[in-house]
Amino acid sequence: MKKFLAAASREDIAIFCKEHDFPAFRARQIASWLFDHCVIEPEKMKNLPQDLRNALQNEFFAPSATICERSCGGDGVEKLMLMLHDQEYIEMVLIPSLERMTFCLSTQVGCPVGCRFCASGKLGLVRNLSAGEMLEEFLTGCSIAGRPDNLVFMGIGEGLLNFNNLALTLERLSGEFNFAPRRITVSTSGYLPGMKQFAALKKEYQLAVSLHAVNDETRARIIPPHLRYSIEEILRAADEIRDAGGRHYTLEYTLLSGINDSLQDAEKLGKIAFKHHAKVNLIPFNETGSEFHRPAPEVIAAFEKTVASTGARVTTRVEKGSSGTAACGQLRIKRIQKKGAVI
Ligand code: SAH
Ligand code: SF4
Repeated sequence: MKKFLAAASREDIAIFCKEHDFPAFRARQIASWLFDHCVIEPEKMKNLPQDLRNALQNEFFAPSATICERSCGGDGVEKLMLMLHDQEYIEMVLIPSLERMTFCLSTQVGCPVGCRFCASGKLGLVRNLSAGEMLEEFLTGCSIAGRPDNLVFMGIGEGLLNFNNLALTLERLSGEFNFAPRRITVSTSGYLPGMKQFAALKKEYQLAVSLHAVNDETRARIIPPHLRYSIEEILRAADEIRDAGGRHYTLEYTLLSGINDSLQDAEKLGKIAFKHHAKVNLIPFNETGSEFHRPAPEVIAAFEKTVASTGARVTTRVEKGSSGTAACGQLRIKRIQKKGAVI
């Protein structure tokens, strides 16, 4: 199979030029287009001779994915659906705020964890994304909105189950693309083996842990058993990552009416967060046609207030692109349904 230009290192590009008898300065020009200007299409690399552009096109996917759907929320949020080289679909989101631009990227086609409220997990895992495909998401976002301030791996998939490809993506981003590790967040449902590998990187990447519950019984109602670990083990692994990289982590908590939204839950969550120096991010559930529902606004507000009263830092995710297909994985599900699958 073709290689992905997006995942090439400076050295790979230098070797390619040498093998095709192009001088070394051509490699530096290609690297500058890709890593400084975030341009991946050879035909846009204006200072390259046509034969070099053709050689790049023949040797690499540059790029492999195409944008096949764009949907804009009223609040400036833009959801993109990308079609991959094998006609699979993933989603990514561009999220502007007053001060910064954040890209939310996918790590897998589907997700094997299968959290019961999540559209991404509905059909299980199709396949992992390669590093090249994840980096193409980044480059696609850049082609629309310029370089972002933050990257969050919170789209479709459990990135830590695709550890090697994710680690290479992070290495390229913080290396060739010169993107600060502390501006990159990896979100995990608490996949313990992957968390241990992530700690071993000993880098300043940010971690977000999707906890969703303050006891294992409640968590068991939300996450199926095959890839679920105990809260105690997850928090221990998160502390290990914090101690290895020196950055505090976030506890994500999707609020589900009648499941995990009591004031006792809020107090316990606050205490856990305070003890572990973690910040809480409350995510009001986005309807996905599952058995779950979003709590009423006053319940969400009281929950946040109770968490805050413990001394823990807490925010509630502001509604961004919440209309219709907001929660990640929903555009993809809609597209698959159109093809005739019953979900
Ligand atoms: N698999 C990783 C990252 C992708 S999911 C993880 O679970 O952390 C990113 C976040 O979106 C998770 O915290 C998840 O709970 C949340 N999420 C998924 N579907 C949602 C929905 N329908 N409503 C609200 N939050 C949702
Ligand atoms: Fe997978 Fe995360 Fe969705 Fe759970 S919430 S099914 S881990 S993408």
